[in-house]
Amino acid sequence: CVGCKNESPNLKLLTCLHTLCLNCLSNNKPIGQCPMCRTAIPEASGIPDRDNLLFSSLQARLNIYKKIRSKGGLGCCRCQKEAAAVWCSECEEFLCLSCFEAHQWFFKKRSHEARKLDDLRAESEHQFLESTRRSCSLFCSSPGHNNQGHVTSIYCRRCEKPLCCSCALLDSQHSRFYCDIRSEIQQRQEDLAALSQDLKKTRSSFEAAHEALQAKAARLEQGSSEMQQQIPQ
Ligand SMILES: [Zn+2]
Ligand SMILES: [Zn+2]
Ligand SMILES: [Zn+2]
Ligand SMILES: [Zn+2]
Ligand SMILES: [Zn+2]
Ligand SMILES: [Zn+2]
Repeated sequence: CVGCKNESPNLKLLTCLHTLCLNCLSNNKPIGQCPMCRTAIPEASGIPDRDNLLFSSLQARLNIYKKIRSKGGLGCCRCQKEAAAVWCSECEEFLCLSCFEAHQWFFKKRSHEARKLDDLRAESEHQFLESTRRSCSLFCSSPGHNNQGHVTSIYCRRCEKPLCCSCALLDSQHSRFYCDIRSEIQQRQEDLAALSQDLKKTRSSFEAAHEALQAKAARLEQGSSEMQQQIPQ
């Protein structure tokens, strides 16, 4: 949060691109203005609807790194019995060696990058974030799940938020509106491609008009200098 400089599970992104926590925004005076730059906040409550998902994802990643570096042994997320030996950045899970074998068998056609915890422990925070940057999982945006690393696979069209499976299925407010996040991503990409096509057309018509005006200006310039030459005579 740029206001209180604390970590927070509820970071909101303002239209001015400042990121503030819910706590700072609730105590913000005067209400309806960014406390950093005074840009107006359009929501009547003075609290923007948009979560800063990038920050939430980064925080979740850093929490995983802290877990990996922590002294206590980590348990396997699947069998809950054995000690974890690898971390899969796609599943966001710690796995023991036998669960890892099952994981490899199951995911061999997809590219899940599982790495040894011993190797990850040797890395700096920065290296860890760099190496996991390729997998661009978003995390569930429900308040209780913000910092828990619940990978999102579902998108709610009404709330315009990514959700994990359990939030989508258990919370009935999303039930009529959710869809697979990949289809939403594809839809958005197609919309953006169409928009960019339209903009290219508009741009080329502006460029044609610009050229015509330049030609006209050159002719006028020519006419004006011819005039000036004739005046003394
Ligand atoms: Zn704050
Ligand atoms: Zn601001
Ligand atoms: Zn296991
Ligand atoms: Zn995996
Ligand atoms: Zn969730
Ligand atoms: Zn919803």
